[in-house]
Amino acid sequence: MTATILDGKAIAARLRAEIGAEVSTLRAAGGPQPGLATVLVGDDPASAVYVRNKHKACAEAGMHSVDIKLPASASQAELLALVAELNTRADVHGILVQLPLPAHIDAPSIIAAIAVTKDVDCLHPENVGLLAQKGRQPRFLPCTPAGVMHILQVSNTALAGANAVVLGRSNIVGMPLSLLLVSADATVTIAHSRTRDLPALCRTADVLVAAVGVPELVRADWVKPGSTVIDVGINRIADPAAKSGSRLVGDLAYAEVAERAGAITPVPGGVGPLTIAMLLQNTLHATQASQ
Ligand code: NAD
Repeated sequence: MTATILDGKAIAARLRAEIGAEVSTLRAAGGPQPGLATVLVGDDPASAVYVRNKHKACAEAGMHSVDIKLPASASQAELLALVAELNTRADVHGILVQLPLPAHIDAPSIIAAIAVTKDVDCLHPENVGLLAQKGRQPRFLPCTPAGVMHILQVSNTALAGANAVVLGRSNIVGMPLSLLLVSADATVTIAHSRTRDLPALCRTADVLVAAVGVPELVRADWVKPGSTVIDVGINRIADPAAKSGSRLVGDLAYAEVAERAGAITPVPGGVGPLTIAMLLQNTLHATQASQ
């Protein structure tokens, strides 16, 4: 079997075009221009690339963005004061504090200081709580998990009653994704670094999502034939054959898993582009809700 490739880049491009059209409609009706503020502390090169891509995407969708960079030495108090100021700014509808923050900063306190109505990364405990409780209407969906759900939706992947295995239990991907899959009526198992016999567990999955950060961890014989396999991982590995000396791989041994799965996302060009599209969507929703 050769898997259908779920082209995240194309799926995200369609979504971004729709969001851009909605921004135009909002503005034509006299509404405000959606605005996203990003806060980057320090000079981690990968984070700088992520932030740059977010600003580019905002501009393409007709949104404005505010790019705030602080030195790695910035204090907790400075960061809290900045978040407090952004919370009150009328032209800023969404606030994203790029993680990870330097070790001397208490990241949970910074996230908890973001106004819940501007928490477009959906990391504030109140917003995560709304996701977790049945019958609640979340303000935002967390970007990467919502991106995974969008790929599953547009590829008509059956979720009700399906066995879904999520590898990883982080605040940003694994745990909130598990909540969204439960809401879609999947039977969800969350696996992590202490899980026993991961390959056997993965073989039970109709839908397998890897969000681990271990290059090419998931092998073909971990995968149920015909299943849908989503790769969230982004890992840079050495590759002497590449011009830069390195290349990006996901958490799947892609070539061999693609021979066994029914559908698969590539890295790059899978989940990554959806994450940014969902950030734009959340910023648009925050703007609409502020009216
Ligand atoms: P994290 O380090 O916070 O969490 C990793 C999780 O994987 C943990 O819960 C850990 O228990 C589990 N884990 C680690 N080793 C394991 C193993 N050998 N077997 C089973 N489980 C194991 O990472 P994260 O922030 O959730 O990110 C995971 C990956 O996804 C990274 O590669 C990251 O770069 C990528 N990511 C991609 C996007 C995107 O937009 N595509 C967004 C966020 C993160």
